[in-house]
Amino acid sequence: MASTLPPALFPLFLDLRDRRVLVVGGGSVAARKVPALLDAGAEVVVGAPALGEALATLAQQGRIRHRAGAFAPEWLDAAWLVIAATNDAAVNRRIADAAQARRIFINVVDDAELASAQLPARVQRGPLQVAISSGGASPMLARHLREQLETRFDASLGALAQLLAELRMRIRSRLTDLGQRRAFFERVLAGPAQALLRRGDAQAARHAIEAELHAIPPPRTGRVALVGAGPGDPGLLTLRALRLLNEADVILHDRLVSADVLALARRDALCIDVGKRVGGNHDATQRHIHALLLEHARAGQRVVRLKGGDAFVFGRGGEELEALREAGIDYEVVPGITAATACAAYAGIPLTHREHAQSVHLLTAQTRDGDAEHDWHALAKPHQTLVFYMGVQGLAQLRDRLITHGRASSTPVALVENGSHPQQRVIAGTLAQLPELATAHGARAPALLVVGEVAALATRLHWFGLPPLTLADARCPDAALAHAA
Ligand code: SAH
Repeated sequence: MASTLPPALFPLFLDLRDRRVLVVGGGSVAARKVPALLDAGAEVVVGAPALGEALATLAQQGRIRHRAGAFAPEWLDAAWLVIAATNDAAVNRRIADAAQARRIFINVVDDAELASAQLPARVQRGPLQVAISSGGASPMLARHLREQLETRFDASLGALAQLLAELRMRIRSRLTDLGQRRAFFERVLAGPAQALLRRGDAQAARHAIEAELHAIPPPRTGRVALVGAGPGDPGLLTLRALRLLNEADVILHDRLVSADVLALARRDALCIDVGKRVGGNHDATQRHIHALLLEHARAGQRVVRLKGGDAFVFGRGGEELEALREAGIDYEVVPGITAATACAAYAGIPLTHREHAQSVHLLTAQTRDGDAEHDWHALAKPHQTLVFYMGVQGLAQLRDRLITHGRASSTPVALVENGSHPQQRVIAGTLAQLPELATAHGARAPALLVVGEVAALATRLHWFGLPPLTLADARCPDAALAHAA
């Protein structure tokens, strides 16, 4: 049975300057906790019958105070925080109970159950800190992450944070507008300051930042980035898409864009869902999107127009750029991984193959005026892969058209539903079975249809999620389960 996880811990950074912290325990475990507390400016009192060597030295230097004896609840008087670090579980429990009764947060070393506060793994660069917690689920995992972050963050970041702290008041008074300040920071980060700090030349770095501060900031003009968000898995975003999401003031996104992708956007960006509803008036929605794009860009904001997959593949991206061009608004386009390549990859279907397919066609089952008009005669030829977007409806008609025009009814097909998402399903069979396959498994949007010899390879090459489902699985659900196990 799945156990329900406790809610996530609430992260917090404490200002401990001149605030009393009680550490109970005089051994090496307690000694390991003390330096960080002293660094934070805390008034550290160590309660223990006797102190080990390291703590005794600190006490002699007057950096900590020793309270001798066995733990007594009045030790908690005047303490803001308690760390229980004795090697006696019963004593730790008494301390935890006493702290609980007085509503003082307590960390019990190596006992997440007793603790009301946990000490995170952390990465520190000067005043800049990243704290990591696994909520007690796996301290090893948190530690592993910490090691990775250590290698990622340059040592110069600490010095940069220090410099910016020194200049903070001047920056604030010169650049009163939040947008101006953000643009200034971006110029600083793109400029030479960090490289200078890395070389140890704090003086030159300061000059570079000051020069940037006094440079006349270019007037802020709004711009729009048309960004492809890929099929759903946030790992499939491009680095540039991620960067733009982090800089955006406004994000206009479709319904297809996954929550996992949106979670990577800047926290205070305004996120607007402009998704078209099934049965809604698409042209009205599209006009509304154009109006929103213009409105926010004209207000000087950085707008990200985020679309599922790639904006230029059945995404009406072209129409949106036309509207921007007409209004004289600057734009850029960032490609995304389109559903065809994503679903093919995640289903183990190579779209081309030396033996089976020499071309790929990206098609839609629907157009502006309803049914798609394609050159069915050409599409019915063998050894080419057809990929249909927006195709869970009208499958019987599609099959009939292809077969009437000469495609073999035994041609393999695969429907990929929710490609790249954890709940992805691949439904595979033959062209003749197509409508029945979809109904039998209750295929739902978003789903992509692959028609062609290569679709058969999913059975052998699948690697993500469950193996492909077939008609036999639907007729005999037990078989499907056995298959999946
Ligand atoms: N611009 C998008 C396509 C938009 S049209 C792109 O490049 O991918 C919407 C259609 O895309 C859906 O009806 C479906 O056929 C397909 N699609 C998008 N994401 C998908 C996904 N994760 N799994 C399966 N099909 C998807």
